[in-house]
Amino acid sequence: MIPFLDLKKLNEKHYHSISETLEQVLKSGWYIMGDSLNRFEREFADFCGTKYCVGVANGLDALSLIVKAYDIGEGDEVLVPSNTYIASILAISANSATPVLIEPKLSTYNIDPSEIEKHITSRTKAIMVVHLYGQSCEMDEINAIAKKHKLKVIEDCAQAHGAIYNGKKVGNLGDVAGFSFYPGKNLGALGDGGAITTNDEQLYLKLMAYRNYGSHKKYENIYKGVNSRLDEIQAAVLSVKLAFLDSENEHRRQIAKYYLENISNEKIILPSVEVDEQHVWHVFVVRTAERDRLQKYLLDNKIQTIIHYPIPPHKQQAFKEWNHLSYEISEKIHNEILSLPISPVMGIEEVRKVVEVINRYE
Ligand SMILES: *Cc1c(COP(=O)(O)O)cnc(C)c1O
Repeated sequence: MIPFLDLKKLNEKHYHSISETLEQVLKSGWYIMGDSLNRFEREFADFCGTKYCVGVANGLDALSLIVKAYDIGEGDEVLVPSNTYIASILAISANSATPVLIEPKLSTYNIDPSEIEKHITSRTKAIMVVHLYGQSCEMDEINAIAKKHKLKVIEDCAQAHGAIYNGKKVGNLGDVAGFSFYPGKNLGALGDGGAITTNDEQLYLKLMAYRNYGSHKKYENIYKGVNSRLDEIQAAVLSVKLAFLDSENEHRRQIAKYYLENISNEKIILPSVEVDEQHVWHVFVVRTAERDRLQKYLLDNKIQTIIHYPIPPHKQQAFKEWNHLSYEISEKIHNEILSLPISPVMGIEEVRKVVEVINRYE
């Protein structure tokens, strides 16, 4: 079987440096908010090109703390793509604000800038863009709209660590950004983890307090904060793996390039990418009319695939109030997409096999 993603193999590549760093944390006797976190925050801010980074417990918290720190709440609206992972939307609804769904482009699966302005009202406070599947959104267009209407731009970078748009990394393309270090992401921890990056000092200071009970100084609480910290073990592991992120993304790019150049089945629509460095291929998503049949065929041929995602947010039970609505592009995408195996530990023989099997599909 060619696995969709072999996490064990992926982390075994770093076995010795991870073991060493885990032992250091163990022996340090300090497990929350210590040197490993400070170090990782500095390194990740430098990596993204931002002034600040705040480690938090997971990607959902990163996004939801951002919304909270902007005081976006009841009666406020935040624009968000209609085909994103549910977490982007929950980060808005968790703060009692209203998510307003925007259709994506069928070609890139990212938010369609030309759809944004018609949904802006006097209640709109921010645009949450999602660099879906690893590809940066069209940020020049989006930032221009945000500037014109005085909206904040929040980036959901959970799938795009290291992607570059016009010479700048994602995480440094809007006002503030949220990252996830869930184990399967391009930069993954050995458990949950997340981070926020920004150049805004006031926002940074607020977030540093928010994630730690609203406190800068032990037992003095200036905000009604939460407990959402990135622990020392995860921060230390992330420091080890961050050093390899660019080369691992490059490996993903090579696989994507091979797929793009060699899959030649007219039933399969390949992903479209304008600028190479804009995409870090968190997943390689193809589209086809009879998706379930293709998935079964690949499984019969020992190739594991995943659907990102089978049910659009507005059709989820959790959002009953949207179930009657129709977002045609989003629905079409959810019905037709399939993610092929791609990862930093996938070998060329496996990639060739996937291509050969797909090209035989009729
Ligand atoms: C994974 C993901 C999140 C949430 O991250 P967690 O760490 O699992 O909370 C948010 N947005 C997108 C687009 C994601 O893929």
